[in-house]
Amino acid sequence: MGTMHDVIIVGAGPGGSSTAHYLAKQGLDVVLLDKSEFPRDKTCGDALTPRALNVLDDMGLLGELHSIGQRINGLEIHVSRDTVITAPIPEHAIYPNYMMIVPRLKLDNLILQGAIESGAKFQSPVRVRSIEQNPDGVVIRGDHKGQSITAQARLVILSIGANIKIPLRMGILKKAPTMIKAARGYYEGLAGLNENIQAHFENIPLPGYGWVFPTSQTAANIGAGFWKPFLPWKKPPTSARAVMDDFLSSPALKDMLANAELVSPIKGYPLRIDFATAPTFSDRVLLVGETAGLVSPLTGEGIDLALESGKLAAEYLEVVFRLGDFSSHGLQGYDTLLRDHFQRLFIFSSRIRQIYINPILMNRTVRAAQKFPELKSLLINVMMGESDAANMVDLPVIRKVLFNV
Ligand SMILES: Cc1cc2nc3c(=O)[nH]c(=O)nc-3n(C[C@H](O)[C@H](O)[C@H](O)COP(=O)(O)OP(=O)(O)OC[C@H]3O[C@@H](n4cnc5c(N)ncnc54)[C@H](O)[C@@H]3O)c2cc1C
Repeated sequence: MGTMHDVIIVGAGPGGSSTAHYLAKQGLDVVLLDKSEFPRDKTCGDALTPRALNVLDDMGLLGELHSIGQRINGLEIHVSRDTVITAPIPEHAIYPNYMMIVPRLKLDNLILQGAIESGAKFQSPVRVRSIEQNPDGVVIRGDHKGQSITAQARLVILSIGANIKIPLRMGILKKAPTMIKAARGYYEGLAGLNENIQAHFENIPLPGYGWVFPTSQTAANIGAGFWKPFLPWKKPPTSARAVMDDFLSSPALKDMLANAELVSPIKGYPLRIDFATAPTFSDRVLLVGETAGLVSPLTGEGIDLALESGKLAAEYLEVVFRLGDFSSHGLQGYDTLLRDHFQRLFIFSSRIRQIYINPILMNRTVRAAQKFPELKSLLINVMMGESDAANMVDLPVIRKVLFNV
């Protein structure tokens, strides 16, 4: 079966590659596998929040990002033609005060190359089929160009995004989680773009939103997504594609799209937002990024959380490799670490979605944010993941939204 590696990481998205970078920096023998050859596309809105940029900066990649991405300085929320709020990306003590839009074709390859430069070995296309946990190691079986391959390691990081087949087969996930559905396409020849990203709620079933994320002054990633309706008797839309088609025909996009051209297929993909109840470890296995359910239940953004969880996993494993206990018992501290970082965000973001993103309160919330600058600032900070989401469900905030006082 060959070498016993220290760590095999399955999945070279932002979660897997950031973990590989930080672990390889510690001097560990790290092998990174992906079913795709890189550069590869990943269906996404391509928006990097300030939190994502913070980790990418720590990895030494921020300079290069500026040469391949579009800088974004503000955010617009459009509920209808006359109900719009615009705000700059907030100042923060640690995170940059801007976002970037970087197509995943380029972003994921950049992060992967960084991991390889740090010492991780990359093999692709390797589709992993099974992971067997034994007392003295983990055995991975998969296919490489039609041939079966086997590899072994002391520990496996599973970072395969929203692909739930392996965690279900291993019994780590007990059942399929509820997911968001979203779709996107790339457009060129757009009119009226500026330095802001746009979130739209018109012609969109709530809870859900449409986005326009500029990739240049005249091009953008445009898409839409929806959550399972909060009220059990409300029927969800048939598909993300149908939601996107409705969004594309909304009045707000008419002028923008008048001379535009779709330059990619429109693609849809699910998102896991179930971190609050998701498993994150098992014997000799840690889950990172979206495989741990780490996508914001409020905005659908998960690149930042994938990068942050990769860094946290590597920090935690530095101690585990010193102590040599790879059992569930030795790894459960990783779950505690993740909960300390993200549990409040998930619980309160879900609550915000349930309270505000519905036909009754959506308009009122944005109108109240137009009237009260402190509410607008809080809303934007919470959307960026830079303020405690619990603040949005405080009584004074609810009073402003409901009664305008
Ligand atoms: C339409 C849409 C729009 C989105 N917009 C945004 C956005 O604007 N900003 C944002 O932050 N987030 C966004 N997200 C969420 C974001 O895409 C994910 O949260 C993020 O990609 C998670 O990173 P990851 O590394 O955990 O997983 P992924 O990026 O999904 O990477 C997983 C990797 O695992 C590989 N893999 C899967 N199965 C196997 C296997 N069996 N064997 C080997 N390799 C395997 C895949 O090829 C892939 O490279 C969006 C998602 C969707 C669907």
